[in-house]
Amino acid sequence: MKYPLCDLKKANNRFAPQLREAATRVIDSGRYIGGAEVELLESDIRLLTSTATAIGVGNGLDALRLALRACILAGRLNEGDGVIVAANTYIASVLAISDAGLKPVLVDPDEETMCLNGEAVRRNLTPEVKVIMPVHLYGRVAWDNEMVQIARQHNLLVIEDVAQAIGAKSPADGLFDSHTAGGLGHIGALSFYPTKNVGALGDAGMVVTNLPDIARIVRALANYGSDHRYHNIYKGFNSRLDPMQAAMLRVKLAHEEELTAERFALAMAYRNTINNPAVKLPLMSSRVTDCVWHQYVIRCRERERLREFLSTRGVETDIHYPTAVHHQPCYSELSHLHLPISDKLAEEILSLPITPGCTSVREAAEIGRIINEFK
Ligand SMILES: *Cc1c(COP(=O)(O)O)cnc(C)c1O
Repeated sequence: MKYPLCDLKKANNRFAPQLREAATRVIDSGRYIGGAEVELLESDIRLLTSTATAIGVGNGLDALRLALRACILAGRLNEGDGVIVAANTYIASVLAISDAGLKPVLVDPDEETMCLNGEAVRRNLTPEVKVIMPVHLYGRVAWDNEMVQIARQHNLLVIEDVAQAIGAKSPADGLFDSHTAGGLGHIGALSFYPTKNVGALGDAGMVVTNLPDIARIVRALANYGSDHRYHNIYKGFNSRLDPMQAAMLRVKLAHEEELTAERFALAMAYRNTINNPAVKLPLMSSRVTDCVWHQYVIRCRERERLREFLSTRGVETDIHYPTAVHHQPCYSELSHLHLPISDKLAEEILSLPITPGCTSVREAAEIGRIINEFK
């Protein structure tokens, strides 16, 4: 394979000496659960998102699950309440909603941004809806003034799925004092899965919030529901961000801006090279942080043929995601939904390589020129 989609060994190679040093530090510390590494990472993420509290958890799905369950335990939500989420998201967003006993209200995203927007929220608002879950899909911040207004006007909770968008910023005001994904709404859930923009060398996730009650409950829930030692106020879980991963993540998080700038440069290389009329490019914004380019997702009516063509030319691609959530067998109860934009996207989207350290700007331009040869 000449152009791999995402070669993690290659991507992490530039950090290898520092990662080894950090691993040695953890080995020698004798502290293998919690401790300074986790606390320092939490503090870095708190600063990055301008939020009051950050809580390390086991993975991104747990971050969402614990956030939603905490809202119920805090009396901010009741079981059965509706959560608006775009149907073209990764299924984890929706699994967390069902897991908490809430009702996913799947809606079509905006066709241009491929993300939820305020207008879609307004169109789908019913009295049962109590939560908006913007998923900053592909790294693009799903946030606008209308969403802020609706959330305020109807007293809705905003829980952001930030798994793909660490460091992304919105020009529109958040509900608190942050413009950064995760700090825009009431609670943000981050994932550090190895392929994410800031990826661990294993699983890790984090919850960020400005709500003290939610922070307290998430912290307890992630630790067997315990508020202090051997005293359990909730029927909780064990979901921890381990210090080895925290140490790995602190190395990489220090380079977050540089990695984001590299993703932007790769997106620009595609934008400036691809001119095949059969291919529709994703929206390109001039501000580096409007989209942190977790994926570069093009569209093509003949997607399967293009994908096959690229494969024969050594370009590895993927589809994020080939099946909208309401067509997944586990959500057969939602299969009646008519979501034409989500369906169309699932048929036309194609993700190109965009991992810093794995694909260079020169290679992105080469891939662009190969795409231009597609007839
Ligand atoms: C990766 C991802 C998750 C889940 O994160 P994990 O750490 O893999 O559990 C949730 N939502 C979205 C949009 C994701 O891309």
